[in-house]
Amino acid sequence: MATYSTLGITLLVRKYKGTGRVVSFYTPTRGKVEAVAQGIGRPASKLAAAVELFTLSKLMFAEGRDLDRLIQVEVIEAHYALRQDMTRLAYASYIAELTAKTCEPDHPLPGLFERLAATYSALCDALDPELVLWSYLMRLFQAHGLAPDLEVCCRCRAALSGDGWYVPADAGLVCGGCRPRENAMLLSAEARGTVQSIQRMPPDKLGRLSLGDEARGQIRRFIDAHTDHQFGVETKSRKFIRQLRGTNGRL
Ligand SMILES: [Zn+2]
Repeated sequence: MATYSTLGITLLVRKYKGTGRVVSFYTPTRGKVEAVAQGIGRPASKLAAAVELFTLSKLMFAEGRDLDRLIQVEVIEAHYALRQDMTRLAYASYIAELTAKTCEPDHPLPGLFERLAATYSALCDALDPELVLWSYLMRLFQAHGLAPDLEVCCRCRAALSGDGWYVPADAGLVCGGCRPRENAMLLSAEARGTVQSIQRMPPDKLGRLSLGDEARGQIRRFIDAHTDHQFGVETKSRKFIRQLRGTNGRL
């Protein structure tokens, strides 16, 4: 029986044959790993800790014909705070779901594991958790080679200055001259500058940015539209975020 060890972050968990679970992890060396963890529903399961969402662990697996089997777990960081607060839980779940749905087994994206770990760590005590969410999403686009260019109009290639507009059909930003009459979303100079700062800064430093409500709304619509256009995946957690937003405008 061949075994391998790796660090991993727990992304998704689903039930499997009674007390078993199929767990999706993101790992630095193998990208997404889906493995069976047996006996999780039993008391005193030694593997149960790894099944808690967003946990960073050292993991050992046995290779299987279909699914690998989780055989050993050593928790490094449980990211407990992410499960204690609705907003953080919603954002952490969205990050996990999008990562699991857009990444493939045996195809690690360079630096993504480290960024995911840093993101969950920053999200635990971020003053403005939405900035940490956006920072990860921009990094995820980049890891997939799908990041929009924020500097240059995607139609005429002129350098953008001042306001820009996001055109979902182009998956990019356009200048005032190229702006179509319909289906263009304003990304003001403030909003565009904030997204550029978010891209440059490490996730744990994002608390230094302050953002007005109007620019926040523009960035939110821009990132949601780009996510839909590039990934086209349904996620339960974004519905949850929208439900929470309905009760809290700041979210
Ligand atoms: Zn243009």
